[in-house]
Amino acid sequence: MAVKLYDTDAYLNEFEATVTGCFITAEGTFELTLDKTAFFPNEGGQSCDKGTINGMEVLNVEYKENEIFHVVKFFIPEGTTVEGKIDFAHRFSNMQMHTGEHIFSGLVHSEFGFNNVGFHLSDNSATMDYDGKLSEDDVKGLEILTNRMIWAAKNVRVFFPSEEELSGLDYRSKSGIKGDVRLVEIEDVDLCACCAPHVKNTSEVGLFKIASVETYKGGTRLNYLAGERAYNDYLRLSELESELSRSLNAKKGNISESVGKLKHSISELEYSNIALKRMKVSAVCDSATTPFVFLESDYVDIMRFALGELKSKFNGLCAVFAGNDESGYRYLIEYDGKDLVDLAEKLKATFEIKGGGRSGSLQGNIIGSKDSINAFLETQIGA
Ligand SMILES: [Zn+2]
Repeated sequence: MAVKLYDTDAYLNEFEATVTGCFITAEGTFELTLDKTAFFPNEGGQSCDKGTINGMEVLNVEYKENEIFHVVKFFIPEGTTVEGKIDFAHRFSNMQMHTGEHIFSGLVHSEFGFNNVGFHLSDNSATMDYDGKLSEDDVKGLEILTNRMIWAAKNVRVFFPSEEELSGLDYRSKSGIKGDVRLVEIEDVDLCACCAPHVKNTSEVGLFKIASVETYKGGTRLNYLAGERAYNDYLRLSELESELSRSLNAKKGNISESVGKLKHSISELEYSNIALKRMKVSAVCDSATTPFVFLESDYVDIMRFALGELKSKFNGLCAVFAGNDESGYRYLIEYDGKDLVDLAEKLKATFEIKGGGRSGSLQGNIIGSKDSINAFLETQIGA
């Protein structure tokens, strides 16, 4: 088993080690084992470190069978001394994210008594799951407290207590931790068993932001950002704000007000559009010589309005169609108090129909030409 150099020094980004094994995989890559490593593997819900070994990209770092396997493209014989380099920007971002999670989870535990029951940290998302329900307001309060703990520059200590020492300690624990218990203590905030690299002082986390809150398995799932990732998200939002400000021609502070005005104008336009359509439909119905009309607009409201106009003018069967010969027509057919089962059967026998109805009313979609539908309905008036 390789000595885990990251266990005691999270800031070590270059190291020398000896190859203890090199195994070919089914994919044709090689799994390298070392006598010691600074590469953190995929473990505890966190994705692995990136970096190089002898200049070769490390494609993956797996923890299995109590050993750490570094996946590389080329064979390196056992006994070779190699030089490992960690992509420290990536590592440090994970350290900021993970320490941020500990502060937040510690506060969730002390303020609400809930446990962190799930943690996932990959390069593009990070989630924390709790076994209790947190409201948006609870989360907001915890987020502020977390940031205050970050700015208070609390020390972070990693240590391996003896069995005796451990038995006297009250610490948060996650399942799946094997071997010696490694504790991460954040001064005045939290004590938690954990296998991952952390920053040495909370101030290095910089910033902590919850991105979303959702109910999950009867508890709460939170998406969050910390450190550089939180800053990058702030940049993204700030650029979005500038873009909106330009396209709405509004000052940055007035975007919400400007969108409100825009929505109001749209609803006024929609209203006058409907009024215009109704006027047009009224004229069509007024000049109709048969109790069925064909419209361009297939808004149900407009179709219903037309049907009302027809029913005030004609007795018996009235029908409104909207659409065109190519893609078909949406239809509304009514005959007050009359059972239209017969008509529905005849329609189905004559045209391709999708629809249904109840007593006195049919609606759906019909494939057929205006002329053929007209001809069919002519035969049905008074039938
Ligand atoms: Zn942890």
